[in-house]
Amino acid sequence: MREDTRKDTGRDMRRDMGSGVLAGRTALVTGGASGIGRAVVEAYAAEGARVVVADRDAERAKAVAAESGAAGYTALDVSDAAVVEAAMSAAVSEYGGIDILVNAAGILTEAPLLEMDPRQWSETIAVDLTGVFLCCRYAVPQMAERGWGRVINIASQLGIKGGRSLAHYAAAKAGVIGLTKSLALEVAERGVLVNAIAPGPIETPMVAAITPEWKAAKQAELPLGRFGRPEEVAPTAVLLASDPGGNLYVGQTLGPNSGDVMP
Ligand code: NAD
Repeated sequence: MREDTRKDTGRDMRRDMGSGVLAGRTALVTGGASGIGRAVVEAYAAEGARVVVADRDAERAKAVAAESGAAGYTALDVSDAAVVEAAMSAAVSEYGGIDILVNAAGILTEAPLLEMDPRQWSETIAVDLTGVFLCCRYAVPQMAERGWGRVINIASQLGIKGGRSLAHYAAAKAGVIGLTKSLALEVAERGVLVNAIAPGPIETPMVAAITPEWKAAKQAELPLGRFGRPEEVAPTAVLLASDPGGNLYVGQTLGPNSGDVMP
């Protein structure tokens, strides 16, 4: 039964993509060189958007941009304010504006809080939370000025539920959800809609290092009985970026593969 569901889900999603709902829009996707960000880059390009792959890994960003039909790439560290400001400003000059910002850059490490090196805490907060703040801070003003924009922040179910040995990551992701709801209140009236996606476990390089035992236990909790795939998150990011679907959501957090079966 599960095998069939798995195959059908992937096939249907690919078939449904490509109706051009993002034609004429420019999107910048942080973390676009890998995993969920990469799947969003591919889905946005397939939907007709001009996409900029923004990642700290310049080589992979360049390769993904070439393979996915993205307009270009930019190498940036989302935790560096000056670098983010310059990258956003350059993208606005080159493409005439950024209409859609997807914050998917992130890092994940594990450590029990009682043994955690404060530097590990700070680094995670800097990339996973402050990085989202900085990208919003320097990309959203020009959206508000032009009266249209979409921001999609990739949070996590761990930001809602917490996770053992993941207090730093969970705190950052909970912060992303609070930032999302707050920014949504500030800019919705100016045509900029801000939402978050809080996925459950998704099969990407980020989770590749986890132990088989943990993975087996985690999979048993999930409604589909397996980890999600990046291309199963991307359609939610398309919906939230589009005009018709996106207008339904302001300051919401949607949770694909979350383990919570919605009524
Ligand atoms: P990934 O490791 O495949 O991709 C993350 C990307 O972010 C990489 O390309 C990396 O180079 C980039 N990056 C890391 N630090 C950066 C920085 N300082 N500046 C710019 N780029 C940086 O991971 P993924 O699983 O695709 O994660 C994407 C997002 O989804 C992350 O925010 C992650 O926390 C979130 N998320 C992942 C899962 C999961 O199970 N994989 C679940 C929920 C949320």
